[in-house]
Amino acid sequence: MAVREIVQVGDPVLRRRADEVIPKQLSTPELVELIADMRDTMRAAPGVGLAAPQIGVSLQIAVIEDTVEGLSAEQRTAREREPVGFHVLVNPTLTVLDSERVAHFEGCLSFAPFQMIVQRARKVRVEALDEHGQRITRDASGWYARILQHEIDHLRGIVCCDRMDSRTLTTTTNFTRHYAGKSVADVKSIIGKPPRE
Ligand code: ZN
Repeated sequence: MAVREIVQVGDPVLRRRADEVIPKQLSTPELVELIADMRDTMRAAPGVGLAAPQIGVSLQIAVIEDTVEGLSAEQRTAREREPVGFHVLVNPTLTVLDSERVAHFEGCLSFAPFQMIVQRARKVRVEALDEHGQRITRDASGWYARILQHEIDHLRGIVCCDRMDSRTLTTTTNFTRHYAGKSVADVKSIIGKPPRE
């Protein structure tokens, strides 16, 4: 097990549609090690999700874990964020269950160190295989639904900056300085509208 380097936006591997995993390969030492390394890399970053292309491997595998460590009750409520145990998604498909979209700042380990407001569906269903090749279905809402959409985007060659409100792009330092804890409406009033050309 090892912490691997996380590739950054601009690397073509983040723009490919990742290859589907052949289920019987999940028991090979290579894929067992890959998934263990993805877990270690996500935890070391730290992050709440990691897709295989983010460590340069173009396969449809993502790992997810949200301990909600360090967040206040207010922050958890504002983000609809609950703890999510470690799990693995292989060859996932995503269905939107509630098309209502929710705007929040999010970041990406492959687009560091920045934050940006991205609208995501509130509720989704993911069908996938787990690391043992067993079929699983996950219904998710709130922040967990956001994580799933973000990670599955990576498996399609999409990075969160493709979906951002580009005027909200901020370094993490400036996010902490100016926007942390503020509502999206307050953030937008600070940023203002784009000037007329
Ligand atoms: Zn990401």
